[in-house]
Amino acid sequence: MNNILVRKFGGTSVKNKEAIVNVVNIIKKSEKNQVVVVSALSGITNLLVSCIENIKKRNIEQTINNLEQVRNTHKQLTTELNLENYAVDYVDNTIDELIKITYALDIIGEISNKSQDKILSIGELLSSFIISEYAKKEIGIVKYINSSEIIKTDSNFTEAEIDFKQTNLKINEQFAKFNQSYKIIICGGFIGSDKFGNITTLGRGGSDYTAAIIAKCVKADALEIWTDVDGILSSDPRTIKTAKLLKEISYKEAAELAYFGAKVLHPKTIYPAISDEIPVYVLNSLNPNGQGTLIKIKSQYCNMIKAIAFRKNITIINITSNRMLGAYGFLAKVFDVFLVNETSVDLVSTSEVSISLTIDNDKNLPLIIKELSTFANIDLHKNQAIISAVGEGIRDTSGIASRFFGALKGVNIAMISMGASEVNLGIIVSERELEKSIELLHKEFFDNELLPDLFVELN
Ligand code: ADP
Ligand code: ASP
Ligand code: MG
Repeated sequence: MNNILVRKFGGTSVKNKEAIVNVVNIIKKSEKNQVVVVSALSGITNLLVSCIENIKKRNIEQTINNLEQVRNTHKQLTTELNLENYAVDYVDNTIDELIKITYALDIIGEISNKSQDKILSIGELLSSFIISEYAKKEIGIVKYINSSEIIKTDSNFTEAEIDFKQTNLKINEQFAKFNQSYKIIICGGFIGSDKFGNITTLGRGGSDYTAAIIAKCVKADALEIWTDVDGILSSDPRTIKTAKLLKEISYKEAAELAYFGAKVLHPKTIYPAISDEIPVYVLNSLNPNGQGTLIKIKSQYCNMIKAIAFRKNITIINITSNRMLGAYGFLAKVFDVFLVNETSVDLVSTSEVSISLTIDNDKNLPLIIKELSTFANIDLHKNQAIISAVGEGIRDTSGIASRFFGALKGVNIAMISMGASEVNLGIIVSERELEKSIELLHKEFFDNELLPDLFVELN
C-alpha cells in the first residue's frame, strides 16, 4: 500500500455539527488515499467514565442519566447532519444495549475492566459511525471500518498492548481494496479487541496511538494529528498564554514531551512512526491552513530547550537504609517491589544510603510501602509535579542548567534528574509551585532571542 495519509481528528475537532462539517471539508480537499481516525466527541469519554463511577457507586439512576445524555447528544447530531433514519437507529440500539448491560452490572454489583472497556468504547463507535455516514453523503464512496476488527491487542483491559503481527494481518485484509474501490477509510480511535473478540481500549488519549499504529501498518506517507492548537508549542497554552509554535521537533523530543505530560500527543504515538521514519504533523483543525509542527527523525536545531512539559499528581518516595551502604543488590531489591506491584518509576536519584524516586500511579502505593518498609525507612511526599525541559543535546550544552536553575530562584526543588536522557532535564516541585515555576522557566527560555526559523509567535 502506498500514497496513503493517516489523519487523526481529536475530540474537539469533532465536537459538534460545525466541527464535523469542517473535518469533512478538510478530508474532501486532499487527493490522497486517506485513513481517517476519529476520537469520541469532546466530553463523551468523560461522561462514560462518570457512568462507570456511578455503576461502582450503585447509583443506577445517575448511570442511566449519563447514558441518556450520550444518546441525546448523538441523536441530535444525526438530525443536524441530516442523516438517514438507520443512523438514528444505530445510536438508539447501541445505547439500549448499553443500558441493558448497565442494569446487569448493577445487579451483580461489580464492574470489571473488561466491562469498563465495553462502555468506554461506545464514544468512538458512535462518533466514527456518524462521521462516516456524513462523509458518505458529502464525498461519496467512503469505507467505514469498526476498529475493533483491525486493532488486535492483549487482554489488558483499559490499557491494552498492541499485537502488531495480528493487527498488521487484519489491516492488510480489511484494506485490500483500498485505492481501487475506495480512497477514504473512516474508523474510530482508542479501541481494539483481544484474541477472544472482547473489546479493549488503549488508555486515555489513545486515538493518537491508533492512528500511529495504522500509519505503520500501511506504511503511510505521513501521519497527521489534528487537534485544537496550532501544533506543538513551547508549553501548554492553557497555562502559558504566550507559548510559541515549534515548526519542527525530533521524534525523541516529541516522545519525551508526551511522556512528561504534553497532552497534545499520546506518549506511545511516536514509536510506531520511528522505525519507518514516517513524518508526523501536528495540525489545528480550527486553522487548517496553518503550518503546524513537523516531527521527524532529526531536527536541524539542537542544544537548546525547545519546550517545557509538566505533569501533576506525582508522589516522591524516599527510601533510606543503612544496609544500603556498600551493599550490592539493594537497588534490585527496591525495583523488584515496583515490578511486582506493576508500578512504573519515572525519576530516580540515589545517594550513599538513600534512593528517591517518583511514581504517578498511586493505585498500589500501600502495598509498595508495606513491602519496602520490611527493609528500609520510607518517607512520602504527595501532590508533587514533574517539570521537564526538552531539547536534543541540552545535557551537553554548557550554560543551560545554570540558566534553568537560576530562573527558579526561590522555588523549592525537591528532586533533580539530568543525564539519564540527553534530551531531558527534569525536576520535581510541589504542585503549589508548579505554575509559578513554569512561568519563570518559560520567561527565561522563550521570551526573547528566539530563532525565527524554528519558533513562530502566535496571536
Ligand atoms: P485532542 O482531543 O485533539 O486529542 P488533547 O486535548 O488531547 O486534544 O490535546 C490538545 C491539548 O494539549 C491542547 O489543547 C493543549 O492544551 C495541550 N497541550 C499540552 N502541552 C502542549 C504543548 N506543548 N503544545 C501543544 N499543546 C499542548
Ligand atoms: N476518547 C478517548 C479519550 O478521551 C480517546 C481519545 O480521545 O484519544 O481518552
Ligand atoms: Mg488527545
